[in-house]
Amino acid sequence: MSFNRIFTNGKIFTADRENREANAMIICNGKISWIGKEEDMPSVVGEKIDLQGRRVLPTFIDAHLHPLMLAETSKQLACTPPGVTSIEEMVQALKKLREEHSPDSWIEGWGYDEGKLEEGRTPNRHDLDQAAKNAPIVLTRTCTHILSVNSKALEIAGITKHTPDPPGGKIDRDEYGEPTGVLRESAGDLVKNKMPVKSLEEKAGALAEYSDTFLAKGITGITEMMADHRPIDYFEIYKAAVEKGMKQRVALYYNWDEFQQLDLNDPALFDREQSVYIAGIKLFADGSISGQTAWVHPAFIGDDENAGISTTSREELLEAGEAAKKYGIQLAVHAMGEQAIDQVVDTFYKRADWLEGAPSVRIEHASLPTVRAIQRAAESGIAFVTQPIFLFAEIESYLNNLGEERSRNTYPVKNILEKGIQVAFSSDAPATAWDDPVNPFVGLGAAVNRKAYDGSDIGQEQAISIETAVELYTKAAQEVARIPFVGRLALGFHADFIVLESDILQVDKADISSMTVEETYMGGEKVYQKKV
Ligand SMILES: [Zn+2]
Repeated sequence: MSFNRIFTNGKIFTADRENREANAMIICNGKISWIGKEEDMPSVVGEKIDLQGRRVLPTFIDAHLHPLMLAETSKQLACTPPGVTSIEEMVQALKKLREEHSPDSWIEGWGYDEGKLEEGRTPNRHDLDQAAKNAPIVLTRTCTHILSVNSKALEIAGITKHTPDPPGGKIDRDEYGEPTGVLRESAGDLVKNKMPVKSLEEKAGALAEYSDTFLAKGITGITEMMADHRPIDYFEIYKAAVEKGMKQRVALYYNWDEFQQLDLNDPALFDREQSVYIAGIKLFADGSISGQTAWVHPAFIGDDENAGISTTSREELLEAGEAAKKYGIQLAVHAMGEQAIDQVVDTFYKRADWLEGAPSVRIEHASLPTVRAIQRAAESGIAFVTQPIFLFAEIESYLNNLGEERSRNTYPVKNILEKGIQVAFSSDAPATAWDDPVNPFVGLGAAVNRKAYDGSDIGQEQAISIETAVELYTKAAQEVARIPFVGRLALGFHADFIVLESDILQVDKADISSMTVEETYMGGEKVYQKKV
């Protein structure tokens, strides 16, 4: 027995090159059994649903994301614009959050960037003590390497003026030698080690709870780009989350050192038809542009000729590549600076070919590719996974570290596409200083307008059409992340689609980033309805 759902009267953008626009589709057992023009529709028996002339798109796939971190930080204060633009606003918001929690529970926040705060400085313990004296407060800077904590958190961690800086870390101190509450690199662990550890159940519960937020933004395919085995295995966490009701299809990319700890004998781990599967191995070739640790050439602006850091080697890349080949999965390498991208491209030049019909090697972020790297990546089938929201939300640090001209030439999406490189869009949420970091419409708007949040021009030459931008967040994201039968509305694909309040292909480009989803469907079933 099959059950049909017949959708009519839609403006369906299919992201399928063969059949780009349709207005009707028939869904049978969750998959599309027919799609096209209403007048050509075969007559079948089933439930009829009128799409009322609204715009329909395939659901979004976020090809580079940190869902667990996102789910956990969603319970914390986003210390970023547009919600928080000063330390004063931060203190008020923390006070409110404090009142919603039990008196002694930890208050957490994320994403602050002193460059975006009115006061132009890092929040210290005196600021945070105004929000709470008796409950510990911990704020993580946008780079995730620096913490600002209040006096109670310092007390719990036992940090006083007599505490020496730990190896690889620094406790900031005032003129009297007293800790200011700012803890850098490994010094942050002194506090983190005292924080309550979350269980598998709690983590899975946070993910399951966050599933609805993803659906409200039209996201049904997600990637976990930093899966760990220790202390709790991410495969187990995500599987438990699915059991608790998480609806997204999940591709896991394990950190290389964690991947080597896994027991990989069960072929089901790599079965892409499962709701959770291992999609690849993740490595880092450099740091970030905002932290001046991306491995660049020429050096960052400044007097010290800082060209960032290299965090892997050709040998390690090749070794991880061999492992990926052995298990028929991908190698995803974080590379932002010119030299880091060159290293990955040169290492895998014309040898990134172990997967059929899909990129074997993905470069994550790919912020500053040289003309030569673009050419060689194209010749080798290496894909680029970029985040249009980065330049949009973090324009200040790009300008400070790279200058105006070089910033405008970062993420040269149009050039890369013209050279025939596979590109997927994504958000990297929550690793962006924006209080709604996973919202695909912010990324789409940024890619189409090439304007930062403050309105400044971030390189009009690299702007792309809205149709292309949607494709990079749907069809192309599927081709790169390899979650099967999604990202396109075509015969045999899952009927995963969104219905929009207005036509994203027609609206003023400036309005794209504030658009919302009215309904989200998975397998032809409505899984989200916007409240009126
Ligand atoms: Zn990431």
